[in-house]
Amino acid sequence: LSALTSPDLLDILACPDCGGALEELGDKLRCGSCGREYDIKSGIPILFPRAMDLSHLEAEEELADQMKTGLTGKAADFLTKQWDESKVEFWSMVRDRLSPAPATIANIGCGRDARSKALEDAGYRFINLDIIHDSLLMLQDQDGAKRCVVGDICHLPFQPGSLDYLVCIDVIHHECDGLEPILASFKKLLKPGGILFLQDPNSWGMYQIWKSVMMPRFLHRMLRSAYHKMKRSTHQPAEYEFPTSVWAVKRMLRDLGFVKIVAHPHKAYPRTGPVGHRFYSLLARIDWIGRYHNYHYTITAVRDDG
Ligand SMILES: [Zn+2]
Repeated sequence: LSALTSPDLLDILACPDCGGALEELGDKLRCGSCGREYDIKSGIPILFPRAMDLSHLEAEEELADQMKTGLTGKAADFLTKQWDESKVEFWSMVRDRLSPAPATIANIGCGRDARSKALEDAGYRFINLDIIHDSLLMLQDQDGAKRCVVGDICHLPFQPGSLDYLVCIDVIHHECDGLEPILASFKKLLKPGGILFLQDPNSWGMYQIWKSVMMPRFLHRMLRSAYHKMKRSTHQPAEYEFPTSVWAVKRMLRDLGFVKIVAHPHKAYPRTGPVGHRFYSLLARIDWIGRYHNYHYTITAVRDDG
């Protein structure tokens, strides 16, 4: 009997330190190359690298805690609805591009996103990876997610060329100072012809641009932290978070050799009130605005066959 909830994970997992294949050894996983052992907690393997940034893990745990309580206040309902709609737009765009099951999909930094269930039911091998064990445990126990892995986006514990699709939503701005190696590792993990689905808060979003592009970053961080203190905000971003630029990310993907790099338009704008949203909707009739100046950008990119 396997200690893993899904033994079919084993053939795509890899040691986050040396890339070696993993084997089950009692209730642990063991790297066949470097010999390092990894715990399995409640069926979920903990595949942190040796060089794990523990202060970062602590900050992420705090963020995950904040996410457990929804937004509160007058505007919250409208924002939450916009946020959900933006995710619906994203996932229907993904579904439209999947080849028929079976195929392997990984959602990197999945948090509590329970949309894996529908795709699992449709026959896909869907892997949820997150840095927070608690989030995955809830996905597993409450939402029926079958394949969960704890890991660090900077040392992803998968075999090269093992994924047909890689999804990454609202994560890379947590690593904005080290984007290029992360995007390079995404490419390495994809099979030739595999697709990356990437979404992130956009520094060129029409209501963010004045602070995230036109203001120096240190000033933005200072004002942001003062603002959240003043509001006694329950959802405070980590110090290292910063929206990323749709243009910079597209350029990086191109330089890394991805092909068919496309930014997709959005109707929902999840961080503005009803008036702001009406104004956005008006402007987003211009296709360009919907693609490049939404709160989020959503990019698909294909690993070339070469
Ligand atoms: Zn190893």
